[in-house]
Amino acid sequence: MINALFAAHPDRWEKYAPALKDAFDTLGLKVDLRQDHAPDIVDYIVYAPNSTLRDFTPYTRCKAVLNLWAGVEGIVDNVTLTLPLARMVDPGMTRGMVEWVTGHTMRHHLGMDRNITQQNGTWEPHVPPLAADRGVTILGMGQLGMACARALSGLGFPVTGWSRTPKEAEGITCLHGSDGLKQALGTAEILILLLPNTPATENTLNATRLAMLPKGAFVINPGRGPLIDDDALLAALDRGDIAHATLDVFRVEPLPVDHPYWAHPRVTVTPHIASETRVKTASQVIAENIQRGEAGNAFLHVVDRKAGY
Ligand code: NDP
Repeated sequence: MINALFAAHPDRWEKYAPALKDAFDTLGLKVDLRQDHAPDIVDYIVYAPNSTLRDFTPYTRCKAVLNLWAGVEGIVDNVTLTLPLARMVDPGMTRGMVEWVTGHTMRHHLGMDRNITQQNGTWEPHVPPLAADRGVTILGMGQLGMACARALSGLGFPVTGWSRTPKEAEGITCLHGSDGLKQALGTAEILILLLPNTPATENTLNATRLAMLPKGAFVINPGRGPLIDDDALLAALDRGDIAHATLDVFRVEPLPVDHPYWAHPRVTVTPHIASETRVKTASQVIAENIQRGEAGNAFLHVVDRKAGY
């Protein structure tokens, strides 16, 4: 019997317990999954940073911590954790992000707001350009960024992606490094942030980089709040240099009611809903990783603790 500890907010148990059981059964894994186990008998920890578990030292026989979230900033620098840490790469979450990003990109590309807010008898045609004439840049070309890049490229946008290490993807201009960032921002009429939150990515979008964007660019951030220097973005929005920012993630969540983003006419706030881990597909990913661990194979999606993601 494999002992697995479910260490996430207790309200997640009701949904995850049956889905994980199904996924374990499908792979023929005999797993005793509980919300509490004696630490010294636990083989795997299914974890979410909203759990109260912070000290991993008593889990002496544990083989891996399997995170339910894609972002690992809530656990990656925990010094008591010396085990392999796998992050969540969930096909359901990826689909959700592609849909959210595509939807918000199309809103701005087509200028839908104009028609939604102008039901006032004014017949004023504004024909949007074709996607082929609108440059889209994605910062962060990982699991989510790459999937969004492919979807937007499929819709006809010229897509540029930027990452830490070099990449290749058919039909997509892939850039890296600081010169690459400059080039990527220069063509970003719509800019999408899908970087992780690490010390190296904090304030990626600061005043200097905002000034590199074409005038009237749109910013869409489903990545993480600290990627943006909020004061610099608000100033760029006030000047009209940035036409609109659609923001899903913030330095403080929930976004405080008095935060200037809420009332800003050029800002859309969504409450960190761009894409959630989907219980069924995520459970399959967890089961697959446990199966790999039991077979002595390397775990999937292991976090590079030094890089922070
Ligand atoms: P990945 O780890 O697969 O991809 C991260 C990408 O960012 C990689 O392309 C990586 O480069 C790049 N990157 C990291 N650091 C740097 C850097 N210093 N400079 C340039 N590029 C860098 O992550 P995912 O795609 O799975 O997820 C991305 C983020 O999306 C998550 O960390 C999370 O914060 C956010 N997220 C938000 C959700 C929401 O609902 N709002 C839901 C899920 C995720 P390289 O390829 O070279 O390693």
